[in-house]
Amino acid sequence: MKIIMLGAPGAGKGTQAQRIAAKWNIPHISTGDIFRANIKNGTELGKKAKSYMDQGLLVPDELTVDLVVDRINQEDCANGYVLDGFPRTIPQAEALDEALKSLNDSLDYAINVEVPDENIINRMSGRRACLSCGATYHIVYNKTKTEGICDKCGSELVLRDDDKPETVQKRLSVYHDQTQPLIDYYTKKGIIKEVDGTLDMEAVFNAIVDILGE
Ligand code: ADP
Ligand code: AMP
Repeated sequence: MKIIMLGAPGAGKGTQAQRIAAKWNIPHISTGDIFRANIKNGTELGKKAKSYMDQGLLVPDELTVDLVVDRINQEDCANGYVLDGFPRTIPQAEALDEALKSLNDSLDYAINVEVPDENIINRMSGRRACLSCGATYHIVYNKTKTEGICDKCGSELVLRDDDKPETVQKRLSVYHDQTQPLIDYYTKKGIIKEVDGTLDMEAVFNAIVDILGE
């Protein structure tokens, strides 16, 4: 099963992608997590990506597409994957389609997690991220057992620099300009599925399970 997650930053794509990956035993591939891991490890890619991410801008397609195409060609992706945060532009979506076409393959579902802008700032200012294992929490809606410590790996959690309100506004406008057109793109391909992302996490996941089948 090959799935992409669409939705505004903070809509809950990562939260749901992790659950999908666990239930269907497929890799969860988050381009944001890949960039953050590169930043943490001080790689060249990380240095380049950081300069865009800190401003709330998208990392250029040239730095993003090959990375994902290489990743989905790895062996653990043979039975599918859930892509979270990619594609984010029409050229990225076209490049993904081309890469899949060359393998006689295509995506199965594009799940759009719909959350209005007014809920997003609250979601993102309360988000706490684990930069070691990629887990995500919320100080109100998804608390850790010990405050500030990742339940999964015990690392310290952070408020991401790009989750501060001034950067979130920019990210939202970038989302509307560059990423939202993908909803139309995948609607035309007949694979879009909408879920109401304002519901609680469990209800959103149940809606996704209804779409994907048990
Ligand atoms: P995205 O991957 O789309 O940027 P996340 O999955 O990281 O979004 O979710 C953003 C924040 O909102 C996180 O702190 C997460 O715990 C919280 N969150 C996710 N889904 C819900 C939900 N349905 N209700 C309330 N909070 C949520
Ligand atoms: P995310 O973790 O998905 O919220 O992504 C964090 C940041 O990483 C984004 O604001 C972008 O700067 C960058 N990023 C992640 N995925 C992509 C992508 N597919 N294309 C361009 N930039 C991306």
